[in-house]
Amino acid sequence: MEEKGRIGIPKALMYYRYFPLWKVFFEELGWRVIVSGGLGRRGELRYLEDSCLPMKLLLTHCMDLKDRADHLFVPRLVSLHRSFIMCPKFRGAPDIVRLAMEESVSILDETIDLRVREHSMLRSFLRSGQRLGATEKEGKRAFQRAEKCFVSFQQGWEDRVNRLPSEQVFHLAPPPEPTETPKKPFRVAFVGHPYNLFDTDVNKDILSFAKNLGMRIITPEGLSEKEIDAQVSDLSKEIYWSSGREIVGSLFYFLSGGVDGVVFLTSFKCGIDALLQEFVRRRLKLRGGTPIPFLILSLDEHSGREGLTTRLEAFKDVLEQRKY
Ligand code: SF4
Repeated sequence: MEEKGRIGIPKALMYYRYFPLWKVFFEELGWRVIVSGGLGRRGELRYLEDSCLPMKLLLTHCMDLKDRADHLFVPRLVSLHRSFIMCPKFRGAPDIVRLAMEESVSILDETIDLRVREHSMLRSFLRSGQRLGATEKEGKRAFQRAEKCFVSFQQGWEDRVNRLPSEQVFHLAPPPEPTETPKKPFRVAFVGHPYNLFDTDVNKDILSFAKNLGMRIITPEGLSEKEIDAQVSDLSKEIYWSSGREIVGSLFYFLSGGVDGVVFLTSFKCGIDALLQEFVRRRLKLRGGTPIPFLILSLDEHSGREGLTTRLEAFKDVLEQRKY
């Protein structure tokens, strides 16, 4: 098929969950997908001052793409769940990007709001397809293929995270066949927003370091919605942010057993993360603590790799003392 042009996808925010779906959809419609690079050695951030690091990175990645792409894909993510909403910053993300780009590039910013039937994921992608000149039939076929690819991508998740170098986790090639590798002595759950867990510019590639310390990485992606719901259903106050709910539910789940340790990666300027920490503290207090070692690492652009790795090494010592 003749290439129709280039769609730029910034490597930020929900790229770290949905990239396979997005990529296949646009490629099926005949567009070439390009993604932004990382921060690079100079590590320069473009940002609006009062923002969390993940939002600053979104802008930085869009800047990187704007002269190379015909359209940037920055969807307006209102809700990715039938009843709960995303952090309000996601709602304004396309507007912030448009303002920063001074309208120099077209932005595909269709709303995704799964609480409203007519704004279902399919409909939103059909609208993006129409903007790119695709018919409804072509859009539907592309979306079905993208969904199929996304489901198979998710199936090998734990192996993918543990076997591949961090920069390859979201490549669409299947993970390498399992080989005889030494068993990792510790199963450790890493919990947080997907972009905190997998963006190496945010977390200084802490997952690779953890693997080298002998930790097998477990993430919330392996938990079902039902398992999360069961953990948060008895809270006195409903958490109405979908990612917050997923994080608190996963933390409660892992802190009650099945892993050797739990690490919670938070964004320093994130009001939601601050509140979630309070939820967890209260629950642990009510239950008389947890037998599972628990580490909270707060991330921002000033976090140094050494500071993070030192704390993770100390955490590993705790795991060792407890285990042996
Ligand atoms: S949830 Fe927190 S880290 Fe994520 S975009 Fe919102 S404020 Fe930023």
